[in-house]
Amino acid sequence: MTHKVKLSNLGYPRIGKNREWKQALEAFWSRSISEESFRAEMASIQLGHLRTQQEAGIELIPVNDFTFYDHMLDTAVMFGIIPDRYDYTGGAVDLDLYFAMARGNESATACEMTKWFNTNYHYIVPEIGEQQPQLTENKPLAAYRFAKSQAGIEGKPVIVGLYTFLKLSKGFPSSKLAEIADRFLPVYIQLLKELEEEGVEWVQVDEPAIVTGLTSGDIVLLKHLYQSIADAVPGLKIMLQTYFEAAEPLHELLQLPVAGLGLDFVHDGGGNLESISLLGWPKDKWLGAGIIDGRNIWRSDLDAKLQLIEKLTAFVGLDQLILQPSSSLLHVPVTVQGEDKLKGVVKQALAFANEKLAELSLIGAAIVNDQVESVATALQASRDALAAFRALPERGLQDVAEQVRGLKDLPDRRTVPFAERVHIQQQKWQLPLLPTTTIGSFPQTPEVRQARLKWRKGVWKQDRYDLFIREQIEAAIAFQEKLGLDVLVHGEFERTDMVEFFGEKLGGYLFTRNGWVQSYGSRCVKPPVIYADVAFIEPMTVKESVYAQSLTKLPVKGMLTGPVTILNWSFVRDDLSREEVANQIALALRQEVQVLENAGIEMIQVDEPAIREGLPLKTRDHQNYLDWAVKAFRISTNHVKDTTQIHTHMCYAEFNDMIDSISAMDADVISIETSRSHGELIASFEEQAYDKGIGLGVYDIHSPRIPTVEEMTSNINRALLALKPEQFWINPDCGLKTRGWEETEGALRNMVEAAAIAREKK
Ligand code: GLN
Ligand code: ZN
Repeated sequence: MTHKVKLSNLGYPRIGKNREWKQALEAFWSRSISEESFRAEMASIQLGHLRTQQEAGIELIPVNDFTFYDHMLDTAVMFGIIPDRYDYTGGAVDLDLYFAMARGNESATACEMTKWFNTNYHYIVPEIGEQQPQLTENKPLAAYRFAKSQAGIEGKPVIVGLYTFLKLSKGFPSSKLAEIADRFLPVYIQLLKELEEEGVEWVQVDEPAIVTGLTSGDIVLLKHLYQSIADAVPGLKIMLQTYFEAAEPLHELLQLPVAGLGLDFVHDGGGNLESISLLGWPKDKWLGAGIIDGRNIWRSDLDAKLQLIEKLTAFVGLDQLILQPSSSLLHVPVTVQGEDKLKGVVKQALAFANEKLAELSLIGAAIVNDQVESVATALQASRDALAAFRALPERGLQDVAEQVRGLKDLPDRRTVPFAERVHIQQQKWQLPLLPTTTIGSFPQTPEVRQARLKWRKGVWKQDRYDLFIREQIEAAIAFQEKLGLDVLVHGEFERTDMVEFFGEKLGGYLFTRNGWVQSYGSRCVKPPVIYADVAFIEPMTVKESVYAQSLTKLPVKGMLTGPVTILNWSFVRDDLSREEVANQIALALRQEVQVLENAGIEMIQVDEPAIREGLPLKTRDHQNYLDWAVKAFRISTNHVKDTTQIHTHMCYAEFNDMIDSISAMDADVISIETSRSHGELIASFEEQAYDKGIGLGVYDIHSPRIPTVEEMTSNINRALLALKPEQFWINPDCGLKTRGWEETEGALRNMVEAAAIAREKK
């Protein structure tokens, strides 16, 4: 007497097994293929994705999750939300305009892009102006028809919910949210009506903004929106989909007149199950139960998943249950097939999008009838794979565990507080007022990249490559001395990526061959994977730093990536807490800092550009995260001599709400990326005290334009209204690796001149 449980997917990776999607886009942008062949290639990729999901036995296959760039951009374009700076006179939006909004063109800058919740995916931020919303096309309908005609699939259109769409848009004060929502509602309903008329059964309406926290006003608005929708399209089954955190308050959400509510049971900290246990589940609603992790790459513990389902079915009938991943699979790579360089036990522990769908399908089969032999065999195979992986000795290193346990006995701070250190350090370093420096990397020219490629392929032996790097360092040191910078860097020529470089040298990391995920547009990243205990093996940066220092009397900063950034830009094992893994990395870096100091490198920069990226979605969880993140940074750095100067660097500008935490990192000097919102950031330092050394980037490295002395002087003067000259450093706002030498030289020469002018005035 068992029911077949429905299986659903929330979104499938767009990029294709071999990043065909990216290749098609870039070929079209460079005009090496026509629009016609571009569209044909995209259609064939899309069809492939539909068939894969069909073959995996997924019943509710998402359509309209596929896009030529980004789903938020699609939604804005579909509603005719085109900023005034583009040429647009109404009607359908062509590809030129669509991509201009994403990437800019000769006459108009691109729309802003920002992180999609707490993922590393970036969406295009819609700019709501005076435009009257209109339906320029019905993309979900087209996607539904495509799946039906091409593959016989009754697709489930996915659309961004109106609430989330507007929450993530800019251009209006939040007090206007309800009013603007009403402006959109008629076209939104028109879109749904057309789906209803077509005979669509399910629509997945993504409302992840719900999980960031709802005010009573938000709840009123949600009720109004979903009631209006229910009244207008009674024939559609709406799955109101949340993900990435617990949906609260559940009793309110359960009152929304929708057919189903989708909840994330992986990233909710247990909150969703807890709410259901308290409230029960209404007889008239489906539960979309997100049980397979859509954000991480590990094989699931299927026994644990079956137990979770058992708990849920105490409240929810099997005939009300839809099993699905916790979120769109956009955030994981496509398939583990082909990862043959990994050892078997490790490869078998991985599950990317396709393998996750297979897990879902196996769970579905197991619920119906776990007596079937093939199901039992598959479950046992999964159990064995997981057990073998768990038993790997490198996942339970005694000394790492001991060190992490010993953390509580390590000093929590540096021996001498900053107020005293600053004098001791000034005595040692004798730096001029307003010292000049850079953030670490110098241009990664094609020559540097080719050299690394030759070395990786074995065409160049280690000696040859080392020699090449030393020559680059020599040139960089000479370059900086010539320009008259005060604190130098070695240039990071030996690094492709600031996390990968350390990952390759630390224990506990593995690298996939094809584990790409979309970061934004056609840009994909292949995050390194922490699969075991992170451990220091041997010095990672000493060779280059010591060589650079041997070439000059000026100080050369040692250059490390911080523990929180390494964590946030990797796929992380899920059997330990993120805090624990951060501590493991911190302890390994602590050893690197020690060997650097022992080797005479006494100015050390530990970059934390991604510290903000790990902020939890719910404000109430922020402080806990910041506390352990900041502590991990301190563990890496607080054991140095009083005279050793610790620097750090951060990207992105919104720091108003974390100045206390930044201060608690206790770095002697911090440089912050700021040029694009200089005024705002400085204002936050006017309101809140910050006493340590600080370099607010005086120019934006993201543009090849050489900034003038006057511009930088004005930035410096503005900063000096908020900060004391004794604490201020002069530097660009980020690393220079994406720039060319010529513009770097011009910009830094002007920067040094602006510094000299500022010093004279003091
Ligand atoms: N030291 C690094 C560099 O200069 C910092 C990069 C970053 O901020 N993302 O490239
Ligand atoms: Zn930066």
